[in-house]
Amino acid sequence: MFRQPLHDRGVISRYRSFLPVNDTTPVVSLNEGSTPLIHSAKLSALTGRGCEVFIKYEGLNPTGSFKDRGMTMAMSKAAEAGKKAVICASTGNTSAAAAAYATRAGMECVVLLPAGKISAGKLAQAFVYGSKVIAIDGNFDDALDLVRKIGERDDFEVVNSINPFRIEGQKTASFEIIDELGDAPDIHILPVGNAGNITAYWKGYEEYAAMGKATKKPRMTGFQAAGSAPIFYNKVVEHPETVATAIRIGNPASWDQAKAAIRDSKGSIDIVTDQEILDAQAWLAANEGIFIEPGSAASVAGLLKCLDCHREPCATCPVRGIPEGSTLVLTVTGHGLKDIDAPLKHRSFAPLQAANSMEAVLHTLGY
Ligand SMILES: *Cc1c(COP(=O)(O)O)cnc(C)c1O
Repeated sequence: MFRQPLHDRGVISRYRSFLPVNDTTPVVSLNEGSTPLIHSAKLSALTGRGCEVFIKYEGLNPTGSFKDRGMTMAMSKAAEAGKKAVICASTGNTSAAAAAYATRAGMECVVLLPAGKISAGKLAQAFVYGSKVIAIDGNFDDALDLVRKIGERDDFEVVNSINPFRIEGQKTASFEIIDELGDAPDIHILPVGNAGNITAYWKGYEEYAAMGKATKKPRMTGFQAAGSAPIFYNKVVEHPETVATAIRIGNPASWDQAKAAIRDSKGSIDIVTDQEILDAQAWLAANEGIFIEPGSAASVAGLLKCLDCHREPCATCPVRGIPEGSTLVLTVTGHGLKDIDAPLKHRSFAPLQAANSMEAVLHTLGY
């Protein structure tokens, strides 16, 4: 005999009273959430001033990205409404999560992808979880436009982050951080693509603070890829380009909400180049043992850039003049194994060669 249904261990179960669910909502879950908040001694030392830096490792969700937090909510509400099919546009991770959770819910899943711009790992996920995959001759923003139109029909539930239940589920990451640290951090840094996540984190921080569970709220600091930075430049990017495909978005759906979060939290938005992103990805893997996909690395790249930035003065810098002993949390949004082509292309990894003997192996190692 088990104490509770075995599926019921995810973010809805953990934060039920903060989410728009009731006793009759069928909970569609893969036990997402409760991801590690990992202290980074090296980033803390680099930041100096007695600051502590933590990594929220969202790649350890069931399908390998934070999208699972929102998908458990969106899919549970779609099931509650009696929907039989869901549809989404995706740069890869939304479709992976939608496909898995739709299967879990017994629903059909349709995903629209920008042709040729999805990593092989993410595409494989959409297929193996059993969704119908359609590659369109356009970018993510075009795919989302189509999804919005198709979603006007009754038979499809849209599970992109324009679905408000996605944001509700994703806000639980802030709850977890506060529950673990005992209070909110001073600065929260995260990658920004369609801007749903920065919106969701801020909502979570505000709600928990309003309930007295935190004494403060962090400055929300977003980083976009330099070639896909509509919020930073305050202008739609017609042809967004970046190696970080998860944030390759030229017209974010939650643009206004992201701007409000940045304004209300006294935060900022800035950019990092593809080189800085790939360097940060490599740095985190080699220095802290945390392998993340390029899109995720925008947060780490942003902190590293600001730590050795000597521009004067820099309005968007999250670390200039931060008080002694500040706490920083960096969300890293997806697992490195999602997209192994990016690091493999960036640097050549070739094994050393040796004959099949202990002497040869030790010789090759220089012993
Ligand atoms: C979706 C995604 C992002 C961007 O999140 P938004 O909510 O669209 O801003 C960043 N990184 C990864 C790995 C993602 O899957």
